[in-house]
Amino acid sequence: MLIIHKYGGTSVGSLDRIENVAMRIAKARREGNDIVVVVSAMSGETNKLIEYASHFSKTPAKREMDILLSSGERVTAALLAIALQEMGIDTVAMTGRQAGIRTDENHTYARIESINTAPMKAQLKEGRVIIIAGFQGISKSGNVTTLGRGGSDLSAVAIAGALKADACEIYSDVDGVYTTDPRIEPKARKMDFVSYDEMLELASLGAKVLQSRSVELAKKLGVKIVAKSSFMEAEGTVIAKEDEKMEEVLVSGIALDKNQARVTLREVADRPGIAAEIFSGLAEEQINVDMIIQNASADGTTNLGFTIPESELERAKKLIAGFDHDFVGADYDENVCKVSVVGVGMKSHSGVAAKAFSVMAANNINIEMISTSEIKVSMIIDQKYGELAVRTLHDAYELDQ
Ligand code: ADP
Ligand code: ASP
Ligand code: MG
Repeated sequence: MLIIHKYGGTSVGSLDRIENVAMRIAKARREGNDIVVVVSAMSGETNKLIEYASHFSKTPAKREMDILLSSGERVTAALLAIALQEMGIDTVAMTGRQAGIRTDENHTYARIESINTAPMKAQLKEGRVIIIAGFQGISKSGNVTTLGRGGSDLSAVAIAGALKADACEIYSDVDGVYTTDPRIEPKARKMDFVSYDEMLELASLGAKVLQSRSVELAKKLGVKIVAKSSFMEAEGTVIAKEDEKMEEVLVSGIALDKNQARVTLREVADRPGIAAEIFSGLAEEQINVDMIIQNASADGTTNLGFTIPESELERAKKLIAGFDHDFVGADYDENVCKVSVVGVGMKSHSGVAAKAFSVMAANNINIEMISTSEIKVSMIIDQKYGELAVRTLHDAYELDQ
């Protein structure tokens, strides 16, 4: 069997933990499996590097950020390979480029375009365990790129797909996908199985146990993911295609995204085309706009509110300051978060959203923005009530049962 293992930051967060991971890999290898391992940077390392850059610039060049950030994963890959070699396991470490991972030129949020599997296959043929630095690739012009935060998950899924691996095991500090973040709600329940669509929704709404782009790719390539813990032996959660016979659960989970900021443009001239201009500007800067609210006032202007990732706030402020559009001013609020109720069964039931709003009301939490789709209800609220909202919603939908 060919198995992909992916170890996240916490799992390789210290030298002892790298040793522990090496022992797990050695065991799997001695059981006769072919193994390709994808690693993250040691926990906190990527944030530290971002901090370093922010010492010099609020909006550092993305090309240079990629050179900087890709180094974290390389450290872990090399250390883990050295640890395994010392245990007598024939091992080779590879950077993203050496592993043949080609991406587009979109620095800090690159898309994997193709993987040249020949170098990995050659090493596997020699009987070596391969340790790959996750989160990175190389663009056509020869620049190092990174794949967005949490992107080592994406590396692992892409490699599993390209090598047609038998399994893609993603190891972190939790033993699977829970009904909500178990750090916020200790009564959260581990799920044995989650469909791609539900996982995609949970992940894109803030359940960082898996990066949402990796789930999207797993769905596209049909890669079965197993989310497991690197600290204990437990079954884990399978993320795969929905079984037709399965009954769709009404609500499968609650997600919280703290990486949210709200922008309000005050007294925007009410004329056709203005929203297009503002949002094209943000799109060109690769700033993802999520919820949008526009309300007209009697004096012929409107207020335009929208949310963006908090990590893009400085970039957005700079851009908005440069707009010569007709609006009076811009307000920014970083102290907001998004709490979401997710479930594929919602599409055939009414009242799910109403219940969420009642729960917020009962707890005196003001809902600042709402967006709904067939399978989710999202609310923007004050950040300080985020965790309370998660726990009360988890209770209200009886997810601990
Ligand atoms: P890694 O560093 O290994 O990539 P992450 O920190 O990215 O791991 O993801 C694991 C974390 O995801 C857990 O510690 C947990 O707090 C958080 N998490 C958020 N939502 C969920 C959820 N629904 N189920 C499990 N874990 C979750
Ligand atoms: N080290 C990167 C991050 O912190 C990628 C990853 O861990 O998957 O986002
Ligand atoms: Mg992660």
